[in-house]
Amino acid sequence: MEFEFLKNKKILVTGGAGFIGSNLCEALLAMDNEVVCLDNFATGKRENLKTFEGNPNFILIEGDIRDLQACRKAVKGVDYVLHQAALGSVPRSIKDPITSNEVNIGGFLTMLVASRDAKVKRFVYAASSSTYGDSKLMPKIEEVIGRPLSPYAVTKYVNELYADVFSKTYGLETIGLRYFNVFGRRQDPNGAYAAVIPKFVSQLMKGESPVINGDGNYSRDFTYIDNVVQANLLSLITENEEALNTVYNVAYGDRNTLNELMKYLKEYLSEFDSKIAGIEVVYGPNRTGDIPHSHASIEKAKKNLNYNPKHSLQQGLKEAVTWYWGNLE
Ligand code: NAD
Repeated sequence: MEFEFLKNKKILVTGGAGFIGSNLCEALLAMDNEVVCLDNFATGKRENLKTFEGNPNFILIEGDIRDLQACRKAVKGVDYVLHQAALGSVPRSIKDPITSNEVNIGGFLTMLVASRDAKVKRFVYAASSSTYGDSKLMPKIEEVIGRPLSPYAVTKYVNELYADVFSKTYGLETIGLRYFNVFGRRQDPNGAYAAVIPKFVSQLMKGESPVINGDGNYSRDFTYIDNVVQANLLSLITENEEALNTVYNVAYGDRNTLNELMKYLKEYLSEFDSKIAGIEVVYGPNRTGDIPHSHASIEKAKKNLNYNPKHSLQQGLKEAVTWYWGNLE
């Protein structure tokens, strides 16, 4: 109801075949918007589009955000952009910083130029909690960041700098959303760069022992996908001038250790298969580039955007686990 006037708009979701992007496409289509998805399927999957691919309001453009012509085609006639396309993962960026830089910075700039020229009303983009880098302050507030700890973090910070410059120089309305460890339906459990929650769920479902990097006391502000969708929709509809041309933490505003996370996962999954409760966890070395603790203040998003996350880690995990149980092989 609160998003009632977000309908009959044309919205571009870059990275719409990915985890977060496909959830955004689905939510926007459910509100009777026209949705254009620009994706090159680098990490996104066609099956993520399955639930809405036949919808006549959905247009898929297979293309690369580094290609200005593809970006111009995708932004044509669009009211808003939700820019999600990027190469995620800190370890991926450590292994191949050049490609992460080209996609995450070059592609971002290309999308900004195309959006500026097409006179889109607002450019909302996926920023990242990795921008807090080595800052020790807790909880994290938007105005206090540290030095980046990975090439990925550099790329996400540069996005914020470019967005700021485009707001000031060309008057493009931008909002950056610093996501904190997002999880939920359709997040990929496979591959070397899989996020912890889907990876652990998939391993537990197969009866394998999950490996926790470090002693399990590192903590994160795990954020359920529905909270992230809400923040994006609010960013599109806000008419509060103060809310524009800045960045927000998008999180639940709490933190849980990896050991706590594992306890919940085993508990919820063992409701489907009681043997999962007995699976032993293995502990490995810490990973380079990982920050020990991450916990967001969400006061700024609450105040300026009326953000009100509904799902705690536990509520989100229950939904996510149920989805994975019904959808993973
Ligand atoms: P994802 O890998 O599932 O989605 C990214 C999408 O971008 C994929 O569909 C991929 O194919 C597409 N893409 C990649 N390179 C492209 C290119 N050159 N041209 C066109 N499309 C391209 O990842 P996600 O978790 O959904 O992440 C979405 C965004 O959120 C990313 O910008 C990511 O950096 C950011 N983010 C995610 C998290 C998280 O916890 N998942 C946290 C912080 C920030």
